Amino acid sequence: MLPVSEDEVRAVLRFAGARGIAVTVRGAGTGNYGQCVPLEGGIVLDLSLMDKLEEITPDGVAVCQPGLRLGVQETEARKEGWELRMYPSTLVKASVGGFLAGGSGGIGSVTHGGLRDFDNVRAFEVVTMEEEPRVVLHERAAVHEILHAWGTNGVLTRIWFALAPAVRWTQFTAAFDSYEQAFCFTESIAASSSWSKRLASVFEWPIPSFFTPVKQVVRQVKALALLMIAAEQAEALSAAAESAGGEVTFSGVYDGPRTQPLLSDYTWNHTTLWAMKANAAYTYLQCGLSPTECSRQFCLLRERFGDEILFHIEFIKSGDGVVIPGAIPVV
Ligand SMILES: Cc1cc2nc3c(=O)[nH]c(=O)nc-3n(C[C@H](O)[C@H](O)[C@H](O)COP(=O)(O)OP(=O)(O)OC[C@H]3O[C@@H](n4cnc5c(N)ncnc54)[C@H](O)[C@@H]3O)c2cc1C
Repeated sequence: MLPVSEDEVRAVLRFAGARGIAVTVRGAGTGNYGQCVPLEGGIVLDLSLMDKLEEITPDGVAVCQPGLRLGVQETEARKEGWELRMYPSTLVKASVGGFLAGGSGGIGSVTHGGLRDFDNVRAFEVVTMEEEPRVVLHERAAVHEILHAWGTNGVLTRIWFALAPAVRWTQFTAAFDSYEQAFCFTESIAASSSWSKRLASVFEWPIPSFFTPVKQVVRQVKALALLMIAAEQAEALSAAAESAGGEVTFSGVYDGPRTQPLLSDYTWNHTTLWAMKANAAYTYLQCGLSPTECSRQFCLLRERFGDEILFHIEFIKSGDGVVIPGAIPVV
């Protein structure tokens, strides 16, 4: 069912609740844990027609309906001098509601943390499923009752999502002889507050060989660092990469979701997608690495699993302000 209003959402939930019919909520269906598969049959509640950006408040909070695409939100916010604090690599397709109910973070998280951190999500209106469905407002700490709950405890119908002042970004790649070199360089940029960045990621070979549409930024048998950095720091970043032993292979402006090439399309879980295009046997694991011990952890994992595990890291600011290596290695 494709509701167009909160009243229609309530009517569907009242009908289903009274009859014990399962309801599976759906944004754009990119969630990669099977959450949108209606295992019990019943109703698929597709929110994609509830896609209005209602307002951007003067202090930079986007008030919107859940079906709004993140790519549209980013484009509209940039017109008013704001941008998304973070978005998944599925930016172009994914909805705001699906991201908040099913995602965790992404491009931007190196500076702004995940969805759970730093008041990034201000409030929700949620419709409950019961005899007489209620619209409940969850504000401040109460957003954590709903965030990342996959729609199991209510249907988001209105969202207050904090933005950041827009920055002119440059997309940047550099190739390094070894993964260790590329990792150290990327980590030094990610961890230092003097760099204004939206993305800091690093890939060991052969992962870059999977990125066929952007093979011009890849060098054979070399590791790749991929960053988004404030445009005015791009020159300094090139110099830093070269003095760390890297070859700058791309430096070009980011103009929003339609930028070509859109290098964020190769990071986070899109890395897995490109690996699977090369060989359908690949999948990924979600790992926790220690910010201080990760070099030793890489060696231990390599010793134990050899080339069965391929590293790429997306750096993330944790809730206590420390930048940590986020790891979803390809296996
Ligand atoms: C290649 C690939 C890369 C990805 N990269 C990232 C990434 O970088 N970061 C990240 O966090 N995630 C990532 N994901 C997971 C997913 O794409 C994102 O979380 C995305 O934001 C989901 O949005 P969607 O609109 O497609 O949601 P859907 O898949 O439609 O829904 C996701 C979950 O939210 C629920 N839901 C949807 N709308 C509502 C609503 N209005 N109210 C209540 N519940 C609702 C659904 O029932 C489901 O459980 C990736 C997935 C893929 C396949």
